[in-house]
Amino acid sequence: MNVKFLSIAALLATAAVPAFAADPVFDPEAVRAHVTFLADDLLEGRDTGTRGYDIAANYVASQFIAMGLKPAAPDGTFFQKLTVREARLDGPPQLTLSFGGKDTVLSDTGQVLVRPSLGDSTVDVSAPLVFAGFGFDRPDLGFDDYRGLDVKGKIVVVLSGFPKGTPSELGAHLNSEKAVMAMKRGAVAMITVPTIEDTARRPWERRVAMSDGPAKGWVGPDGKAFSRSGAIRGTATINPDAATPLFAAAGKPLAKVLAEAERTGGRPKGFDLKARARLAFASSWKDVTSSNVVAMLPGSDARLAGEFIGMTAHLDHIGDHGKGEDRIYNGAMDNASGVATMLEVARAVAQDKPRRSVLFAALTGEEGGLIGSDYLARNPVAKGELVGLVNFDMPILTYRFSDVVAFGAENSTMGPVVAEAAKKAGITLSPDPMPEEGLFTRSDHYRFVQQGVPAVFMMTGFAGPGEKAFRDFLKTHYHQPGDDLKLPFDWQAGALFAKVNYYTVQALANADQRPLWYARSFFGKEYAPNAPKAAMPGK
Ligand SMILES: [Zn+2]
Repeated sequence: MNVKFLSIAALLATAAVPAFAADPVFDPEAVRAHVTFLADDLLEGRDTGTRGYDIAANYVASQFIAMGLKPAAPDGTFFQKLTVREARLDGPPQLTLSFGGKDTVLSDTGQVLVRPSLGDSTVDVSAPLVFAGFGFDRPDLGFDDYRGLDVKGKIVVVLSGFPKGTPSELGAHLNSEKAVMAMKRGAVAMITVPTIEDTARRPWERRVAMSDGPAKGWVGPDGKAFSRSGAIRGTATINPDAATPLFAAAGKPLAKVLAEAERTGGRPKGFDLKARARLAFASSWKDVTSSNVVAMLPGSDARLAGEFIGMTAHLDHIGDHGKGEDRIYNGAMDNASGVATMLEVARAVAQDKPRRSVLFAALTGEEGGLIGSDYLARNPVAKGELVGLVNFDMPILTYRFSDVVAFGAENSTMGPVVAEAAKKAGITLSPDPMPEEGLFTRSDHYRFVQQGVPAVFMMTGFAGPGEKAFRDFLKTHYHQPGDDLKLPFDWQAGALFAKVNYYTVQALANADQRPLWYARSFFGKEYAPNAPKAAMPGK
């Protein structure tokens, strides 16, 4: 259906039929307007806790007002306030390895990277070292890396990532749970050794550059930064070159361990490293206030209005780094484009009278570790139940896409809903083109999944010029100052992305049945064990 026809249809609709029956027009210039404002240098990269972020938040709230949406924060505003703690290392950290009768002190970033602590301003732990393979403690799923090991009061050494051949979403999930699993076994600190594959994808120098920023977390009413693995006092990553002598002294060459981890299904067994380590470092903290911008559209069906469909897009980016000529990380694609398209979906949905309520949230603190989303997921703003969530993060709007990807689609009945919406918009839904990245666990929706909510994370697809556009963006612009308004935006693509997502949200909000996890979904079983499930079609 072309734009001209749509405009006529919309005109007729205003004159004759109820507004929700009209097929709304998505204006490329409206998407452009949002991105142009949000990605301007004046907003200084929208880092959490900065003035630039607050201006962006105010902009989004103003848009919500103009759409007639209701403020959803408990204080009657659009701003769900939270305190975000930023932790930086205070002086160089020290990791002392003691084996073979001598001490080796590592403190250079070429050898070891220590993550600043959000829980203790000074950490000084000294304990024996135990290697625990990939560090997965889920015998029920066939991962038993702690079998026969005693790590109580000790420091565990684990490989990064997950065994080759593990389904990528499951692997990515378990990888993000390693510190929690180590803590449950009684460990006091965790040291990670990158695998060969990990180093190939992310060489040590890149890892060093990426670890430049502070660690971040939200602060609870008790003044403590929220942590699920608080008893793990410190975490560090050690350069494989620096770890080689340690493994050699235990009679287990690291090269052999890493080679085994390279094989499909390879799971190096754990062992006592017959060594000790002392991890000592200090962290300095800065607490900042930031907000999730939240708005509500109340549902029109009294029976279903207590159920919400959520739409989320992170509003923050990584700020102004004060180096080089172009110092500002504008985040035009990451994620001004996602916020812009979410706003245009909100505008269209606000014209409807959907049966379920819809909650719109522009989130803070995504770049620091999905912080605003975690806060919102654990501190719901609206009464009722969030029953399904659609997340936008970094749709690549530089090409006319002909397919979309919905990470998480194969986990719940939301998958077929997105497929239908794509069809209605004249495009298709494709399976995850980069399963190795485990993207389902890497954006804001995942914090809601962890609370049991089925979700999809929407992305422009790889068909036609898509893959090249996506990979080029990742390589040359992602988390760089060049993710800015100079990118060759195709604003029509923005309008199309809004349209697909509008159809998705509209269908989710109006369906008789709320979204359900598929019975076979790991995430459904893990996080919503008691919720009713649907059978996966064809299974
Ligand atoms: Zn990002």
